[in-house]
Amino acid sequence: MNCKHVQDLIMTDYGDGQLPSAKAKSVENHLMQCLECRMFAQKVQRETAAPFAGGKVGGPDDFVWQRIKAKLPQPSTVDIRRPVFTRPSFLARPLVFATGLILMLVTAAVVQQTTAQRQPYLSYIMGTDTPGEDDAGIEAYFL
Ligand SMILES: [Zn+2]
Repeated sequence: MNCKHVQDLIMTDYGDGQLPSAKAKSVENHLMQCLECRMFAQKVQRETAAPFAGGKVGGPDDFVWQRIKAKLPQPSTVDIRRPVFTRPSFLARPLVFATGLILMLVTAAVVQQTTAQRQPYLSYIMGTDTPGEDDAGIEAYFL
C-alpha cells in the first residue's frame, strides 16, 4: 500500500470507519511505519472530524419539533378499503356529480335516438309495417 492510497483511504472510508477490518489493519500497519501518513491522519482527524465530535446528532429540539408537528397534515381517516365512489368526499364534489349527471343524460339521449332510428326497421321486421307507395324494391313488385 503506497502513501497516496493510504491518504485517500484516510480521507474516505478509513476516516468514516467504513473500511473492512483487514484493509483497516493494513492502513494501521502503514501508519505505524510511515511518519508522513501518520501526520496526515492526525491532521485530517484534527481538522475534519474533531470539530464535529461534540455535535448533537438527531432532529430539532423539542420546542421546534412540536411546532413543526402541529403544522403537518393529520393522518387521513378515510377508509381506503371502501370504494372511491361511495366515500362521502367523492359524493360531495359538485363537479363529479354534475359530470355524472351529464353523462347519464347524454347516454339516455343517444339510446333514445338510436331506438327511434331503428323503429321503421323494427316494425318491418315484426311485420307491422304496411308497404306504401314509396316502398321500392322487390317487395313492391310482388305485393
Ligand atoms: Zn505513507
